[in-house]
Amino acid sequence: MAAKDVVYQEAECYRFDPAGGRPYLVGSRCRLCGYTAFPPRAACPACINKESMQEVSLGSRGAVDTFSVLRVPAPGFEAPYVVAYVRMPAGGRVFSLITGCEPSEGALAIGAEVELVIEKIREDGQGNEVRGYKFRPVAAAERGAGPR
Ligand SMILES: [Zn+2]
Repeated sequence: MAAKDVVYQEAECYRFDPAGGRPYLVGSRCRLCGYTAFPPRAACPACINKESMQEVSLGSRGAVDTFSVLRVPAPGFEAPYVVAYVRMPAGGRVFSLITGCEPSEGALAIGAEVELVIEKIREDGQGNEVRGYKFRPVAAAERGAGPR
């Protein structure tokens, strides 16, 4: 593989809306028990049925369930950075990097609304850009009116 090739990792987890080009996450939902999985699963992990999962859009916005600032990086990452579990309104809980905020405990809040972005996640051992999904805080101006 030539250096600087862009590697699209995790592409089975998201798609782009053909109309507006905006990304959305793809999960799977069980027709029998309603369990929603992310990333998509071939078999339902809740009722162990191998025929019942169907693809479903999880949308592009969710709410921070919990988060952490990592100061010891995984290989290929630069610390500090923020990771979170994001709960999607359509179902599913997504582990993701968070971008667009300072890597500090005060920069994000549990319950904060975040939106999906597709961008560089890290570089592989050869310096190739690996792209994937992240979430970023929704700008205050884009949120619905509410107490501040
Ligand atoms: Zn099930």
